[in-house]
Amino acid sequence: MIDLKDLTIKKAHKALKDGEYTVKELVDTYLKNIENKNTDINAYLHLFTDISERVEKAQKMFDNREATLLTGIPMGLKAIIAKKGQVTNASSKILENYKATYDATVVEKLEKVGVVFLGSTNTDEFAMGGSTENSAFGVTKNPTDPSRVAGGSSGGSIAAVASDMALAALGTDTGGSIREPAAFCGVVGFKSTYGAVSRYGAYPMGSSFDQICPTAKNVEDVKIIESFLRGEDKYDMTCLPDETWKKEVKKEKYKIAIPKKLTDGSDDDVRKVFDDFIEKVKKAGHEVKEVDIPILDLVLAIYYVLIPAEVSSNVARFDGLRYGLKVDGETLWDVYKNTRGQGFGPEVKRRIMLGTYILSAGYADKYYEKALALREELKSELKKVFEKFDFILTPTAPVVAPKIGSLGGDPMTEYLMDIFTVTANTAGIPAISVPAGSVEKEGYELPVGAQFMAGWEKDDTLFDITSKL
Ligand code: GLN
Repeated sequence: MIDLKDLTIKKAHKALKDGEYTVKELVDTYLKNIENKNTDINAYLHLFTDISERVEKAQKMFDNREATLLTGIPMGLKAIIAKKGQVTNASSKILENYKATYDATVVEKLEKVGVVFLGSTNTDEFAMGGSTENSAFGVTKNPTDPSRVAGGSSGGSIAAVASDMALAALGTDTGGSIREPAAFCGVVGFKSTYGAVSRYGAYPMGSSFDQICPTAKNVEDVKIIESFLRGEDKYDMTCLPDETWKKEVKKEKYKIAIPKKLTDGSDDDVRKVFDDFIEKVKKAGHEVKEVDIPILDLVLAIYYVLIPAEVSSNVARFDGLRYGLKVDGETLWDVYKNTRGQGFGPEVKRRIMLGTYILSAGYADKYYEKALALREELKSELKKVFEKFDFILTPTAPVVAPKIGSLGGDPMTEYLMDIFTVTANTAGIPAISVPAGSVEKEGYELPVGAQFMAGWEKDDTLFDITSKL
């Protein structure tokens, strides 16, 4: 029996290379766990149909001494990232049976080096949300306390990793979707500088915010996966040039800013774990200073104006004529109305309505243009902060994982959970969430995450500091 609890990519790689076990044995151990746990946790929507082919290919790579660190590594794939021939439904009724017609660049890249994707993981519908309660196919439960949410939107990928149903996984992060669930489930989630990883094949939510991201139980695994994901792609013109990643950036002692006023808004028990974490950072020899960055108070508002605007235009393609669900009607207008009315859930509809309003003549200058201007101001304020500091440190979320159903369909409560994470996406900077400690509630040790944000293209410094803590 392979012990999955403390398994890492390097350990698995060594065991596979030394012939301690085969790729099939490793994958089967994860599949067994999925069989035992998934009905309850609901991390996977379905398993892929090509697993045995992939396993065979990976084993051959080992046999031919062509294996990379990722060969034979079993991973989960968020249901928003296209894998050719497999149902990729974004946890939406509108794409319920839709099979992707091409591979996302990240899928192509990882499968080429021998990754075995096990299945499609649950998400809030089209990644809109922070709990997976907006999935059309049920909530993903938190593996620590199943009466709580795993978080979202990449909750399925995160819960799969946290409960050993995958060694690692891919998710996306538009406003915190890899970091927030990682914090709620006690694993690591990393969002790169905008443009580090090709977005080709990830269903777009907010195209100027979205990134495809790795999650795993430890920083080293996340760093390894990220090194395979990065790079230019002719299908995504926003990708940064490959040279960006060639410079090594490491320091013994980093300077860290804590936006005190903002982080004070966290729940008391989260605040306490965060304070202890700050002490740990100081003990490791880093310089920590409390600062005031007033523009951070506005980022949630900026984000929730720009995001619905981008969402409303991105999901316009789901019209009942081109992809997925089609509900007939007497006129073309009825087809649109019926398809979108039945296919989309309430949160997606809310964002379409809001976004359409925000972009409409007479309001675009009042809301959209203003938010765009503030986005530029945020970037220039952060530029100043990163001239003096290496990192901004906050809790990842102001709360621990909420109880299932407790958000009560109230969007404001859910949006407020994003207060610390939306900054990185709005400015395009990299950020990582790492486990910081836990809060005891009803006999469960609920994980709390700490988030480091770094300046543009300083992604590697995030791995450096967090791997040494
Ligand atoms: N919770 C945020 C939102 O609903 C972030 C979602 C995401 O990162 N995909 O917009």
